[in-house]
Amino acid sequence: MKPLKDILREMIALEGPITVERYMSLCLRHYYATRDPLGSGGDFTTAPEISQMFGELIGLWMLEVWNGMGRPAPCRLVELGPGRGTLMADLLRATKLLPDFKNAATVHLVETSPSLRRKQQEALTPSGFSLHWHDRIEDVPSGPTLLVANEFFDALPVRQFVGTERGWCERLVGLDDERLIFGLRSEPEPALGKPLRLGDILEWPAASIDVMSEFARRLKHDTGAALILDYGYWGPAFGDTLQALKGHRFADPLEEPGEADLTTHVDFHRLAQAAVAGEARAHGIVTQGDFLQALGIVARATTLKARATPAQAAGIDHALARLTERGPTGMGDLFKVLAVTHEGIATVPGLPTLSPSS
Ligand code: SAH
Repeated sequence: MKPLKDILREMIALEGPITVERYMSLCLRHYYATRDPLGSGGDFTTAPEISQMFGELIGLWMLEVWNGMGRPAPCRLVELGPGRGTLMADLLRATKLLPDFKNAATVHLVETSPSLRRKQQEALTPSGFSLHWHDRIEDVPSGPTLLVANEFFDALPVRQFVGTERGWCERLVGLDDERLIFGLRSEPEPALGKPLRLGDILEWPAASIDVMSEFARRLKHDTGAALILDYGYWGPAFGDTLQALKGHRFADPLEEPGEADLTTHVDFHRLAQAAVAGEARAHGIVTQGDFLQALGIVARATTLKARATPAQAAGIDHALARLTERGPTGMGDLFKVLAVTHEGIATVPGLPTLSPSS
């Protein structure tokens, strides 16, 4: 197969520069379709891969919300971007506490990568739940829904605009000889108005807003809740958050297209706005550390350690520290948690309710 870098060079030479959004979209599709990016041999590690406690606590969150919804049956349990299926496997195990849940729930995995779909099937078939795969959230059947997305929204492409004297100009990827370089469209985007400061970068997560708006649309007919965990911030903010990760190290986003993971930081404010605009209710945001502590991760670790060997107990302590670590690079602070629910659901565990104006 021809390397994506060569395909992109030919495409740009023929059609001219492409938007950052199109570049990300082409790279990410190739990247996720051709590998398992997770774990020590891959490019990055995620919370469910660090410890079973993460998925278990989310499972208990789902049970409590399902109970509060009046135990609807059937209920769609949806995961966006399930990776190796680890989070869902841990989550489903925790839901055994309420045996009725298994009779009510059907599991829907929104995943584009065929190789990761196979891994998910291996991880989840032993659970005995009925499993379904979909390419897009739009394809999941209607009905009461519980949805989880961990490190999914950061993997969706964004548009980027740079503040210039002419206005906000879209950032492009072009060619300098054989090398991929960033450039700018000369015409500004009038709908975005004038930038306050030259050189600012504005990220517009159109794909993420579409997913959130679709979820809110579903909540108009059926009750439901979504739990979103990712690294990000409460905007508005300006800056270039596009980053590439290869073998657990930061890389140049243009250096190895389709061979490195490309992500941006999630603007939770925009996600919440899209939900509220669709008449859904937003809850949060809190840091992952605060959320997991509110759900009882310390007590869960103590219970697990009571049955563990000394080496396993040290592993549990290490995982607990990693998932809740504070500071600008600690997962406990860098990752944030937002829930979006039907407007009739006033509270969810571990998260304050946001007022519609915030
Ligand atoms: N949630 C997992 C994996 C995160 S990696 C975990 O926490 O470990 C991102 C996941 O999203 C992968 O499973 C990837 O294949 C999937 N993905 C990326 N872009 C997607 C898209 N546009 N539609 C559906 N799934 C996508």
